[in-house]
This record gives sequence, C-alpha cells and structure tokens, in this order.
Amino acid sequence: MQVPAHFEYEKATSVEHCLALLAKFGPESRVLAGGHSLIPMMKLRLAQPETLIDINDLTELGYLRVSDGELRMGALTRHAELLSSPVAGEHFPILHDAERVIADPIVRNRGTIGGSLCQADPSEDLSAAFAAVRAIMVIQGGAGTRTVPAREFHLGPYETVVESDELLTEIRVPILPGSGSAYEKVERRAGDWPVGAAGAALWLDGDTITEVGIGLAAVGAAHFSAAEAEDALRGEPATDDSFTRAGQIAAEHCRPISDQRGPADYKRHLAAELTVRALRRARGRVRGGKG
Ligand SMILES: Cc1cc2nc3c(=O)[nH]c(=O)nc-3n(C[C@H](O)[C@H](O)[C@H](O)COP(=O)(O)OP(=O)(O)OC[C@H]3O[C@@H](n4cnc5c(N)ncnc54)[C@H](O)[C@@H]3O)c2cc1C
Repeated sequence: MQVPAHFEYEKATSVEHCLALLAKFGPESRVLAGGHSLIPMMKLRLAQPETLIDINDLTELGYLRVSDGELRMGALTRHAELLSSPVAGEHFPILHDAERVIADPIVRNRGTIGGSLCQADPSEDLSAAFAAVRAIMVIQGGAGTRTVPAREFHLGPYETVVESDELLTEIRVPILPGSGSAYEKVERRAGDWPVGAAGAALWLDGDTITEVGIGLAAVGAAHFSAAEAEDALRGEPATDDSFTRAGQIAAEHCRPISDQRGPADYKRHLAAELTVRALRRARGRVRGGKG
C-alpha cells in the first residue's frame, strides 16, 4: 500500500490562523481541504509537504449566497453543496451541469470548489465552468486581499497565482440579466475525468450576443477558455451557424495531447462539437431565448 512521506499536521481555527501557519511553515507547507487530490499525490510521492494545514474547520469559508449582485461561494464549499444549491442552479445552471458529472458522491461530499481550482489539473471541470461565467477569485494573504479574474488564475498545469502564504477564500460570479449557461462533457465512464468538455455562458439582447464565455477542459485550451471563439461571437446573432463557426475556431486554437483518455484529434473534435452543444443549450436557457 502506498503511504505518504512523513509530515507534520496543523489544524487552522480561522482564516487568520491559517495565514499565520502558512507564514510560519513557509513554502514546504500545504493547505489541506477535501484532500481528494492532495492525499493521492502525497501517496504517490508527487507531493511531499513537510506540514499540512487542515482548513476543514473553517466553516466561515463554507457558504453560498447572493450578495451585491454576485453569486458568492466560500472556497470550502463542497462540490455536493454547490450541486444542491437552488440559487446557484437558478443563476448559473452551468455549475450544476458541471457538478453533476464531477466524480462520484464520495468525492463530491468531501472535495471543495477551492481545492479543485487550486489543484489546477488541466482536466478540471469547474475551472472551465468558472472561466465561462467569468468568475472572480478572492485571495487572502498576510498583506491583504486581492481579486483575480478566473482567466488569470491558472498559470499552467498544476500552477496558480495563489502564493504559498496565501489562501483562496471566495469565488464570485457577477449576475447580469439576459444570461444562459450550460456545460457538456464526454467521459469514458460515469464519474471519470473528461476526455473533453466545454461550458458556455451567453448574454443576449434579443437575438444578439452581447457577451459570451466559453470554457474548455482537458483539450489544452489556454486559461481553460476559447477567447478567439468568443471574439467571433460577440455582436453576432445567436444562431446555429454562428455557434458552428465558434466551435471550429475553439477547436483550431486548443492544443490537446493524446493520452490514456483519447487521441488528440478526437479531443479536438470534441472541443468543436461540445462548444456548439453548450452554446445551444445556453441559448435555450436564456429567459425567452430559443432552444
Ligand atoms: C476518484 C476521483 C475522481 C475525480 N473526478 C473528477 C472529475 O471528473 N472532474 C473534476 O473536475 N475533478 C475530479 N476529481 C477531482 C476532485 O474534484 C478534486 O480532487 C477535489 O475536489 C479537489 O478538492 P479538495 O478539496 O479535495 O482539494 P485538496 O486535495 O485538499 O487540495 C488540492 C490542492 O489545492 C490546495 N488548496 C485547497 N484549498 C485551497 C485554498 N482554499 N487555498 C489555497 N490552496 C488550496 C491544496 O494545498 C492542494 O495543493 C476527481 C477526484 C477523484 C479522487
């Protein structure tokens, strides 16, 4: 049986306490949230933190509410809590779509949305969903609080802008009128990571696309998004033809790799097809929009 290397264990009792512990133990310490990514990596010795700082008692980071025109979620919100939240589903059905296909109930009951985003796995579903809805990440450190757009949060595979003495505390999504959103994923079997996945958020004025977000997972898209396809859609009518063109552009600009989940050319095909399906379903969810 694989076991992690020796580590020290600390339990944070507040955000301030956690930040003090991170400052005290330095870059060789790691925050422990649900542990569904970190513990397996420690067992495989892909991560060998000297100190784990457990944040599971920080109930102040486990919330989901609408405030100041934004959906605000604490970083310690469990996947299952996001999935069962009526307010999240009402404003951003893409989040429910994505959560429904993330892993299984055991992982969703324990895994957190902050842990998922900070793990920065290139196949991570929520990173694509939050890129589509243009979420804002709130990061707290000893020097204060800063906000970072979702598309600037990930620096590359398994790397984010969160410094070793900082904590992701909140995810905010602005609620704007006339929006619809959806997430589409192809997986090899239920609960698996995506072979490819796409999320879309549309903001319409009549039939015209005033703003759009396209998030992609597992297909090598920069910042989990398809900026060129979004540029092609803005100001255009929300028609199947526009969506097909956007899907082609999204596929052209992503850089999938062949791996155990599928060949690169199939993933590129998925990037196009799932983008179109997500856009269509998002359109159908705009109040008064056509399906
Ligand atoms: C069997 C299985 C199947 C899965 N399938 C999918 C899937 O289909 N799609 C998908 O997207 N994901 C999938 N996952 C991943 C799962 O969603 C994540 O493992 C999990 O949610 C990560 O969150 P966590 O709370 O467990 O993070 P942890 O494992 O505790 O932490 C992950 C990393 O983030 C850091 N971290 C955690 N919280 C914070 C914070 N607030 N601030 C700063 N750093 C922080 C930790 O230090 C660590 O480096 C799967 C996982 C498993 C085990």
